[in-house]
Amino acid sequence: MSDSNYIHSCSCGLKWNVTKHKLTMRDKDREVCTCGEIIVSWNGAVMYNARLIEDKG
Ligand SMILES: [Zn+2]
Repeated sequence: MSDSNYIHSCSCGLKWNVTKHKLTMRDKDREVCTCGEIIVSWNGAVMYNARLIEDKG
């Protein structure tokens, strides 16, 4: 089960479902929107996963 998640609304209009995962090791990375804006960045014993939420209608 995921630790937590939230919705990130990018300034370009896309919405991302961001899920946080705990790691036993340190990780440093980022998730970037298709428009180039950073959705989330991290540096520590966590990682994030961003999935695009498709607007229907
Ligand atoms: Zn964007």
